[in-house]
Amino acid sequence: RRQALTAYKDKPSITIDGHHVTLLANVGNLSEISHATDLGAQGIGLFRTEFLLMNAKALPNEQQQYKLYCDALHSLHGQILSIRTFDIGADKEIPCLEQTHEDNPAMGIRGIRYSLAHPNTFITQVKAILRAANHGPIRLMFPMVSQIEELEGALALIEQAKAQLIEQEKGFGELMLGIVVETPAAVLNLPSMLPLLDFVSIGTNDLTQYTLAADRTNPNLAKQYPALSPAVIQLILMTITYCKQANVNVSLCGELGSDPQVLGLLVGLGLDEISINPTHLLEVKAALVNGRYQDFVKHAHTITTLTRIEDICLAISAVNDN
Ligand code: PEP
Ligand code: MG
Repeated sequence: RRQALTAYKDKPSITIDGHHVTLLANVGNLSEISHATDLGAQGIGLFRTEFLLMNAKALPNEQQQYKLYCDALHSLHGQILSIRTFDIGADKEIPCLEQTHEDNPAMGIRGIRYSLAHPNTFITQVKAILRAANHGPIRLMFPMVSQIEELEGALALIEQAKAQLIEQEKGFGELMLGIVVETPAAVLNLPSMLPLLDFVSIGTNDLTQYTLAADRTNPNLAKQYPALSPAVIQLILMTITYCKQANVNVSLCGELGSDPQVLGLLVGLGLDEISINPTHLLEVKAALVNGRYQDFVKHAHTITTLTRIEDICLAISAVNDN
């Protein structure tokens, strides 16, 4: 089966009836980037940069990070690199950084909240990324942004980073700026934030956790509180609709996008870009290439009328069994 899947590597990612979907990859280090491009990914849709810190003795400095992001661009040969700023906090422990104990870390100082509370760490990373942007296309995205104040705070720090680079006479390039939509509040607040954004990426792992109030690390909850809950599907659809109305690029980078059975639903809901765990990239591509966009749209429409997780799962397996 593996062997049959490799046949999809170099095929264009287009449905039988001619609908194109960009398939990107989720990665956490440089070797995963090369692996993803070997598999035919069209770029990186999520670089989880905090993974660089997990085994580090100290925080990498601006120059070290600059070199790393340049190496990443180099192995992508002009394809897009979507870098997520450090998503520190919650279940991700980073020994080299000061993290104060929190009773409820998933709802604590994590993602953009940590960055705004520790601006120097954020500015160092952003300066390295701005400099790397001179060497290839970079999208920069902020995790866990729920409201416009956080976004404005992050954008102000980007301006500070640029001012420092100008002062230091270091060259830098332009970035496309976006957020990861991973709380229900982020979805509801999108209309105010979209005018400030070039793109949006839907993070279904946290969006599911925060919508259903179900800890994503608790295996006892996974079955009853899945990403295929009608509430989460509605929030995904709302995000797509808001973004399309505002002409802002929208993609999805949560694990839901790595399930080949769910591909038809996501494309049918209107997603033209999905970022996938490289392990599942070719399976998802096979589902796209062997499907019809027309059918995906009908399938997605049916699913949005269903109110029970069980019925949604049945509808999804039914089309995939055909
Ligand atoms: C998500 O929350 O869906 C996501 C892509 O980010 P992470 O899994 O790293 O929290
Ligand atoms: Mg997340």
